Amino acid sequence: MKLSVVVPCYNEEAVIDRFDQQLRTSLDRLGVGYELCYVDDGSADNTLTRLRALRVEHPANTRYLSFSRNFGKEAAMLAGLRAADGDAVVLMDADLQHSPELIGHMLQLHRRGHDQVVAKRDRSSDKAVRGLLSRLYYRAVNRWVDVRLTSGVGDFRLLSRAAVDALLSLPENNRFSKGLFSWIGFDTVTFDCRDAERQGGGGSKWRFGSLLNYGMDGLISFNNRPLRMAIYTGLALAALAAGYAGWVIVTALSGGVTVPGYVTLVAIIAGLGGLQMLMLGLIGEYIGRIYYETKRRPHYLVKESGEVRSPAPAPLA
Ligand code: UDP
Ligand code: MG
Repeated sequence: MKLSVVVPCYNEEAVIDRFDQQLRTSLDRLGVGYELCYVDDGSADNTLTRLRALRVEHPANTRYLSFSRNFGKEAAMLAGLRAADGDAVVLMDADLQHSPELIGHMLQLHRRGHDQVVAKRDRSSDKAVRGLLSRLYYRAVNRWVDVRLTSGVGDFRLLSRAAVDALLSLPENNRFSKGLFSWIGFDTVTFDCRDAERQGGGGSKWRFGSLLNYGMDGLISFNNRPLRMAIYTGLALAALAAGYAGWVIVTALSGGVTVPGYVTLVAIIAGLGGLQMLMLGLIGEYIGRIYYETKRRPHYLVKESGEVRSPAPAPLA
């Protein structure tokens, strides 16, 4: 059996060599054949130079791809999954937050017949606000969206060949992989692990804005339930307005005409205006997605690739 390890790298020059070494040490101990697929996601530092050097050092089981610019981790993972040809594929980060030592455990679980072996991170060390936000988020997603997402589950996982092929068969352009992993199903097992500190400095590459956008993707990219909610909200408001109008008419008829409240009027107009903008934005969000999907652009562009070099043929005796 052959194991492929897919590693998206974005500006990881400081840590990539150490990562590579630790990974190989762990994999050598397992005694399975393996290949490493590094994907340089348009790094601005010398990550690519390091990858070239790694391939020169280990030509038989190192391959890399380098994107023409930064396309994002989702695209890098996709490229890696496409390149990998092992019987099972491990996805992991280059910053040593995902411990290579866990791969042995994953492999064991895989051998017991699980197609997806997923590392679940202990979130108790998260800052309180962040932890609360993520709990609320997961609750919202799981209520609204058809797929199940689990808090603390990231991209560190092992996928069987069948699961990888299933993922690659999904044609969409917008790849919210947390959702896709769950959508494809297959026998999935989760185990607990502790995330190490990020190595190589720089901190996480997630900014608050990008997290927010990512969260939106999760809510919107799986079904049209938000649109359904918009319809119900509209109905409820219309009913409310009708009720209010009835009440005004009745009081006007029974007790003379009262002067209508100016503040109420402004509040209602502003409130409804805001709500309409929100619904329009929601519809626009879906239309925007249709627009991007119909363009059928590739997820990434490769500017350089280093394939596994097959060993030189033995000289004739
Ligand atoms: N990464 C990438 N492209 C990006 C951002 C990140 O390939 O645009 C890679 C990065 O090199 C690392 C992994 O994705 O291997 C996770 O990134 P990071 O540590 O910044 O995210 P976090 O651990 O906070 O989820
Ligand atoms: Mg990280």
